[in-house]
Amino acid sequence: MECEICHGNIEPGEERVHQGRTVCEDCFIEASMTMKACDPWAVRSAKATEKMLGGKAELNPLQSRILDILEETGGLEKEELLARLGDGVTPRELETQFALLRHMEKARAEKRGDRVVLRTW
Ligand SMILES: [Zn+2]
Repeated sequence: MECEICHGNIEPGEERVHQGRTVCEDCFIEASMTMKACDPWAVRSAKATEKMLGGKAELNPLQSRILDILEETGGLEKEELLARLGDGVTPRELETQFALLRHMEKARAEKRGDRVVLRTW
């Protein structure tokens, strides 16, 4: 199967669907994060919240851990980050928290070669 964004090969069972398109895992992450981060209202409200809190957005413990790990390592792929976070954190949870961190401009995804690396902003 072929990814409709990067046209790379997708292993059977690895395909994801993003807005009706069959895409690979990497493109799915990038597309879903980009989409969320480009939601101007969400970005504005996250920034407004941060301003209200005196420039320090309130991070939940998981968000703080994600930022600490990314800071320490200089950036990690999602799977590596998940492994470091340990049991109890699901890929879905990580994606949600990461999208929030991206809204707050604390962290972002970066394409390095054919890898998508999560890093601090
Ligand atoms: Zn792809």
